[in-house]
Parts: sequence; structure tokens; C-alpha cells
Amino acid sequence: MIDFNKPCHIGKEETAIQQAIANQKLSGNGSFGKKCTDWLENQLGCEKGMLTPSCTAALEMTALLTKSGPEDEIIMSSYTFVSTANAFALRGASIRFVDVEPKTMNISPAAIEAAITEQTKAIVVVHYAGVSCNMDAIMEIANRHGLWVIEDAAQALTSTYNGKPLGTIGHFGTFSFHETKNITCGEGGALIINHRDAIERAEILQEKGTNRKQFFKGMVDKYSWRDIGSSYLLSELNAAYLSVQLEHTDQIMADRMQMWQTYYEGLRDMETISLPYVPDNCTHNAHMFYIKTDRRSELIDYLKEHDIMAVTHYVSLHSSHAGKTFGQFVGKDDHTTAESEKIVRLPLYYGLEEKDVDHVISHIKRFFEI
Ligand SMILES: *Cc1c(COP(=O)(O)O)cnc(C)c1O
Repeated sequence: MIDFNKPCHIGKEETAIQQAIANQKLSGNGSFGKKCTDWLENQLGCEKGMLTPSCTAALEMTALLTKSGPEDEIIMSSYTFVSTANAFALRGASIRFVDVEPKTMNISPAAIEAAITEQTKAIVVVHYAGVSCNMDAIMEIANRHGLWVIEDAAQALTSTYNGKPLGTIGHFGTFSFHETKNITCGEGGALIINHRDAIERAEILQEKGTNRKQFFKGMVDKYSWRDIGSSYLLSELNAAYLSVQLEHTDQIMADRMQMWQTYYEGLRDMETISLPYVPDNCTHNAHMFYIKTDRRSELIDYLKEHDIMAVTHYVSLHSSHAGKTFGQFVGKDDHTTAESEKIVRLPLYYGLEEKDVDHVISHIKRFFEI
């Protein structure tokens, strides 16, 4: 049986967790946490990285940092994970879902422009499958209208756009270390702050609305309640696991890229399906290999009969119960629904073997020959 995903495990995480226990510091912002945020700040070249319990939590922080509220509209694509919208719906903001570009499944800049009103506060972009949105066009629109840009880069760690790491282009970027992502610690995430003025408040929001961080830096002689906030810290036990994974990022990404390329080369000649598209000015991290077909459920059933786990992906948010309650689609749904119903994600994880990928390819070919 070929699973769709297995959580990445290098084999050295256990030692790091034991070290965290020996350090007798298990709560957030300890030495393993620092190792991880140093990695993020150095490797991505960003102003500030903070570890959070999830990408969901990091998105919630961006909703607080942009002071999004009931008067505000937030623009995003309808083809995304619920957390992208939920973080802002929690603050009472209304969600304006817009269409994607079919080749990448990323938000359409023209659709963003058409959805902007006096109430628009922010644009949240999702780099689907680790492939960048059209950031030049999006930043130009945002700057012209004075809007915040949040990159939901949950799937896009180490991917680049015009040579710049994703998550470092908008005002904020968020990453996920959920077990389904390339680099993991079970549940975990990060907030990247590229807007310097937001750093101090972010540190307060993360620490339940207190200035505890300043207290530990020796900047104040006692800490107190300063603002709203929550517990947006990642435990040291998770950070220990994560620190090992981050150290092995090159190895993990290279392994996934080899599998991705094998799929691409193996399937590129098939005219009945379409494959992922990566624009020339983008590099990606092999987060996902998907194909598009009009015979999706038949294909998934066929592969399952042959012990291969392939899966669908997002159901457009504007068609969901909560999506209709907290937002609405603006403009025409030319591509979101139609294209999302064609997507089949194929098995891809660290440690998947070349022969398994070849096996999946041959079954896909056999299916379409019937
Ligand atoms: C995985 C994912 C999330 C949620 O990440 P968590 O760490 O599980 O909260 C959010 N947005 C996108 C686009 C994702 O792929």
C-alpha cells in the first residue's frame, strides 16, 4: 500500500527532545525555539520570525495585527484551507472570495482589483502547492490602495518569487509545520513579520497580551497586561523536533523534488490530464504533485483498488455553510469550482521510493488507457 502522506522523520529528533527535557525548559521561546527562529530569520532573510502553535494561530495573529474587525472586508481566493478565512471571520470581518488563475490555482490579481471597496482592509494570498502567486501585481495593487498583504505560505517554505523567499514579500507571512507539510513538528507554525512596526505588538499578542518578552529582555522591571492577546507560543518539545527538521531542510526538499520530477517526467506526455505549472520566475519546494482530470472520482477509486492513496483537495469555501455565513464570492466563478473539482493529489512524502512513484505513474497510465 502506498500512503498519500507520512510525517517526515529524520531519526535525530528524539535526541533533541531529550535535550529539551534535560534543559528543564519546556514552555515557549526557549533555546530550541531560538534555534528555529534564527534559522527562519537567516535562511529567509526576514526581519522577524516567531514560532506559533500552528499556521492557523499565525493567521489569527495577522488578523489582530491588522486590527481587522466588523467594518472590514478581507479579500482572498475561495480555493484555500478554512483557516485563511476563519482567522478573519473570528474578528467579525467579512470575507470577499475571488477567483483563481486556473494554471496555478493561485488568486487572480485582476479579480482582487475588481473586489476592492472602501471597506477593504487586507488581501490574503495563498501560494498553492508551494508555487508563488503573482506578487509583483498583488503588491502593486495593495500599495496603490493602502492595503495589508498577508502571505499564507503554509505550503511554501523555501519557495521563491524573483529570487525572494515566499513569506517575506507581503507585510506578514505564515508557515505551517503540520504533519502534512514538508517540514513538520506535528502541529506548529510560524509568523514572519516584514513590517517592522508590528514586531513589538506581535510579541505582546503572543504572550497573552502581556509585555513578558520585554521583561525577560530586561527592558521593564515587571510585566503586566498591555493589550488583547492569546497563547500563541510553540512548546519547546515541538521546537526541538522542528529544529532537527529545519537543519535537514536541504535534504528533505531535495528528496521531495526528485519524486516530483519523476512524476512530472513520467506523466508529461499524457494529453488527457494536466500537470502543475511553475512560472519561470518562481522556484517551488515540491510540496505537492497534483494532476487535473475530468474523471477524478473514478481515478481515485481505481488507484485505491490498487492500494494507492490519492486524494482530492479544497472544496471552494464560498460553497460551504460557513463560507456563505461569513463571506461571499465577488465577481465570476470562472475557474475556482470547475478546476477544484478536477484535482487529484498523488502520494508524495520524504522517504517515498522512486519505484513507488513509478508504480503510481504506471497505474495512472493504465487507467486512462482503459
Ligand atoms: C496547512 C495549511 C494551513 C493550516 O496550517 P496549520 O498549521 O494546520 O494550522 C493554512 N493554510 C494553508 C494554505 C495550508 O495549506
